[in-house]
Amino acid sequence: MTGAEPRAGLRDVAPYVSPQLDVAARLNTNECPHPLPEDFFAELAATVRDLPLHRYPDGQMTRLREDLAATVGHPFEGTWTANGSNEILIELLHAYGGPGRRALLFEPTYVLHARLCWLTQTEVVRRNLPTDFVLTDEQVDEAADAAPDVVFVCSPNNPTGNAQPVGITEALARRLPASLVVVDEAYVEFGGESALGLVAAHANLVVVRTFSKAFALAGARIGYALASSDVVDDLQRVRLPYHASSLTQAAGIAALRHRPEALAILESIRVQRDRILDALRAIDGVTVFPSDANFVLFEPPGDAKELWQRLLDRGVLVRDMTSVVPNSLRVTAGAEHEVDLFLKAIDEELSR
Ligand SMILES: *Cc1c(COP(=O)(O)O)cnc(C)c1O
Repeated sequence: MTGAEPRAGLRDVAPYVSPQLDVAARLNTNECPHPLPEDFFAELAATVRDLPLHRYPDGQMTRLREDLAATVGHPFEGTWTANGSNEILIELLHAYGGPGRRALLFEPTYVLHARLCWLTQTEVVRRNLPTDFVLTDEQVDEAADAAPDVVFVCSPNNPTGNAQPVGITEALARRLPASLVVVDEAYVEFGGESALGLVAAHANLVVVRTFSKAFALAGARIGYALASSDVVDDLQRVRLPYHASSLTQAAGIAALRHRPEALAILESIRVQRDRILDALRAIDGVTVFPSDANFVLFEPPGDAKELWQRLLDRGVLVRDMTSVVPNSLRVTAGAEHEVDLFLKAIDEELSR
C-alpha cells in the first residue's frame, strides 16, 4: 500500500463503534430514554437564534462553569467542562499521562480508559478487580506497588454496574499522593456514593461526570471535571483553543435550568433497572450482577453472542460485552415499553 505511513500500530486498532440501529428497543448505550421537556428546547432555540456565531465562543466557558459550580456546590476555579467526559479524560491524560508515564486500570472496566491511554501514548498497567468487582484494600496495595502516574476508578463501574467504596478511593488518593486519581462518575446520579467530598482534602483527586446519561443530553456532548484549581489550571494548558462551541455551552446552560426535570425521571429509570434485575434473577442459569447504575450486566446460560443476535432479530439491541466480561451482555434500563420488549424476548429465548 502506498500513501502516508501512520503511527506504529495505528492500523492494528479498530475505530470505536457501537451499533446505532433503528430498532424497537435501543438498550445498548446507557442513554436516557426520555428527552428533556419541551421548555428546554424552546429556551435553547431562542438562545441559539441570538448567539454571535461569527465570534469564537467564550474560551473559559465562564457562564456554564459558574452555573455548574453553583449547581453541584463546588468552587468555580475547580470546575471544568469539555465535549463529553471522554474529552475531559483525554485532557487529563494529556496533562498527567503521556509518553513515559503510566496509568493503572482495574479491569473489567470502561474500555475507553485504555483506549484514551493508547491515544495519548500513556502506558497501561492492568490489575484485576476482585470477583465481585468491588475494590478492596488489596487493590490499594497493588496500586501503591505499581506507583502509576494516573489511576482510574469507575464508580458505578461500567460494564459491571457496581459502585466502588468511597473509603477505598480515599485510600488510593492518600497512598498515591503524587498520582492523579480519576474517579469516573458517569452514572453516579443512579446510585453509589460520590467521591466529590474528597476533592477538598485531596488535591490529586478529580471527579469526572457527564450530561450524557442521567442528564438526557448525550447528543450535546458535555462532560465536566470537579477538582482542585491546580488540576483545572493544568487542563487549561492542554485543551484545544475554544474547544467547547457556543452551541454546546448554550445547551449546557439551558439544561442546568431544567435539572430538576431531568432528575425527576431518574426514579422511573431505577424502577426499570430493578424490574430487569428481578426478572433476570428469576430465570434459571442466568448470573445477574448487582447494579447501582442505569444498566444491568448478566451472563446467560448459553452462548451470549448467539443470544445477542437472537434478541436483535426480535428488535432488541443490547450490548455485547463478551470481550470485557466473559459471556456477558449489558442491557440499559430504557423506557418501560423497551424493557417490556427485552423481558418478553429474553423470556421466550431462555425458556425454550
Ligand atoms: C458513557 C460513559 C461516559 C460518558 O462519555 P461522554 O463522553 O460524556 O458521553 C464516561 N464514562 C463512562 C464509564 C461511561 O460509561
